[in-house]
Amino acid sequence: MNVRTRVAPSPTGDPHVGTAYVALVNYCFAKKHGGQFVLRIEDTDRQRSTPESERAILDSLHWLGLAWDEGPDVGGPHGPYRQSERSDIYREYVRVLLETGHAFKCFCTPQRLEAMREAQRAAKQPPRYDGSCLRLTNAEIERAEAANEPYVVRMKVPEGGVCVVDDLRRGTIEIEWNTVDMQVLMKSDGMPTYHLANVVDDHLMEITHVIRGEEWVSSAPKHMLLYRYFGWEPPKLMHLPLLRNPDKSKLSKRKNPTSILFYRAMGYLPEALLNFLGLLVSSSPEGEEVVDLGTLVQRFDIEHISLGGPVFDVQKLDWLNGRYLREQLDTAGFLQRVLAWGFEPSRVERIASLARPRVERLSDLGPLLAFLFAGRLPVTAEQLRDGKLDGEQLRRSFALAMWRFDAVRDWRVAEIERVLKSVAELLGQKLRDVTRPFYVAMTGSPTSIPLYDAMELLGRDIVRERLRFALDLLGRPNAVEEKAWKALQAASASPPEIA
Ligand code: GLU
Repeated sequence: MNVRTRVAPSPTGDPHVGTAYVALVNYCFAKKHGGQFVLRIEDTDRQRSTPESERAILDSLHWLGLAWDEGPDVGGPHGPYRQSERSDIYREYVRVLLETGHAFKCFCTPQRLEAMREAQRAAKQPPRYDGSCLRLTNAEIERAEAANEPYVVRMKVPEGGVCVVDDLRRGTIEIEWNTVDMQVLMKSDGMPTYHLANVVDDHLMEITHVIRGEEWVSSAPKHMLLYRYFGWEPPKLMHLPLLRNPDKSKLSKRKNPTSILFYRAMGYLPEALLNFLGLLVSSSPEGEEVVDLGTLVQRFDIEHISLGGPVFDVQKLDWLNGRYLREQLDTAGFLQRVLAWGFEPSRVERIASLARPRVERLSDLGPLLAFLFAGRLPVTAEQLRDGKLDGEQLRRSFALAMWRFDAVRDWRVAEIERVLKSVAELLGQKLRDVTRPFYVAMTGSPTSIPLYDAMELLGRDIVRERLRFALDLLGRPNAVEEKAWKALQAASASPPEIA
């Protein structure tokens, strides 16, 4: 069998280290068997998908050194590899399911669905479509269509019995059909949902092994059913455990940076990060921990994948990265990495022009600019609080800025300024009073090079980490506060213009 695997990220945010982990397993499995590794962009959620996110995902995976045989940037015989360019294909398959009676049109209004869910909540039943439109007569359907009523297409689901899913590592998983929802396959705008597009593409792209995160286990019955409806042979499935924090909680950006871009900005070498992820996939039998991608492929074995949830231990990553810097590079190689990391000519020029008016001696440069070449700064809560805002306003300003920065697509001075101005406005405070603690959090000092330039130069990932650290020092918002602050920001009259 010609093995074909894929990684299928949705471009809805920063490139996650978990995506790199899944990509690496798929890469190793395909290459171990002399097969192909495909990259597919699953951008059916048009509201949340952005080209910036797609670019960042592709760049990050390339940076790590993972190369795919087929994908949106390299092409291939099964393209297009971006789901938003495949709508006609999905529409055709929806038509087949409707014709064969495996799917049905659902004209339920959002209000009716909400009332149904409300009743289910009250009766302590799991939320699930109640099948109302399954009972429509042909005449009723024709009338609704003639009146141009919007509809979605849902898949039918067996009423009783269990669905058996075979997982290469977990064995047989049984899920009762009556817990599986009549999934929407096509939205009212004619776009497919993830489930339909995923199955159709895996089939058409001849994927033989679907290796993905365990959060998709509960979707597997729907997918298996779709394969059966279409009369296609399903791929083999394997669900990988999610990466965990050392305390075993799920790795999430509320607790730790999860973006590959952050690790790049912090000066981890791509081969060290890839090696680190590889050790999470399978530990070294001989105890040798510095291994390249070729070796990872060679010793890859599905049986070695632990289901316990690999721990993303940053201390271990630091140790490994240190070994790469000391042992795998000579001085010239080291210098080359240093220059590429923080001293790219246009960046240096910009820094010089910002620093020049602020120094009396060249030896002032070190203290003035150290924050640009540092990880976490030795900032204290007292330094942050030393200003006009009270404790709550301070925490709110950091939290609001952090959330708003996440939505900024073009990380530049103008957008950064717009966000901070909107935060000051929302809090009803002077901009100067709001920005002062940001200076401290970003640069370690209340005076430095201009704040917005400093933030642009630091990059969004380091900025987010410094804001998160500041919030840790001051007290992270609890769930109630977070809800209230987010509601307030949603209701604010002039949200920042985020392009
Ligand atoms: N688009 C899904 C994700 O971003 C892919 C899930 C799958 O591999 O089937 O995780």
